[in-house]
Amino acid sequence: MKRKLVFATNNVHKLEEIKAILKDEIEILSLADINCHADIPETADTLEGNARLKSEYVYAHYGLDCFADDTGLEVEALNGAPGVFSARYAGEGHDAQANMKRLLKEMEEKNNRKAQFRTVISLIEKGEEKQFEGVVKGTITREKRGEDGFGYDPVFQPDGCKQTFAEMGNEMKNKISHRARAVEALCQYLSQKKQ
Ligand code: IMP
Repeated sequence: MKRKLVFATNNVHKLEEIKAILKDEIEILSLADINCHADIPETADTLEGNARLKSEYVYAHYGLDCFADDTGLEVEALNGAPGVFSARYAGEGHDAQANMKRLLKEMEEKNNRKAQFRTVISLIEKGEEKQFEGVVKGTITREKRGEDGFGYDPVFQPDGCKQTFAEMGNEMKNKISHRARAVEALCQYLSQKKQ
């Protein structure tokens, strides 16, 4: 029988992304699939802590093997901010336009534009936790460019690219993104274990 693993998300895009990478090897269930409609707390002050809170919640309440992710944009000149607060940098509204506006304002006088997106995945199998990381390095642009993607995509230009994440389109972004790299590391681990 195929192994089942819960991905502690209801984000359809993230679910499709991981199902495409894992092909048919493992059956991935979403929170909705296990009837979990709770607003799982994300109150830790690190990406590692928040990813763990989510995977532990599912394991504690449902006893199912599970993984969860958390992502942040870490800007060198801002000492790693917005980091774990990326979604609510401009307030609890989780407004991407307001977040980018604040970021560009904070960066107005900064010449060091270096930044990275970092994703942490926390996997819990039979109560044991393991973490995986994916990083993409780049720079914060001086203004927004591009219409695709979400979040900070219009102001993040990956190293070695002339386009921002929002200009290059999802197909290209998904090949090099922080999340793709973290998911790749997770999938490699899961596939190895199967052999
Ligand atoms: P989450 O942990 O995946 O929900 O990401 C937290 C926040 O980081 C999001 O609300 C976005 O503001 C930002 N973020 C995460 N991934 C990306 C991305 O691929 N592009 C742009 N912003 C992102």
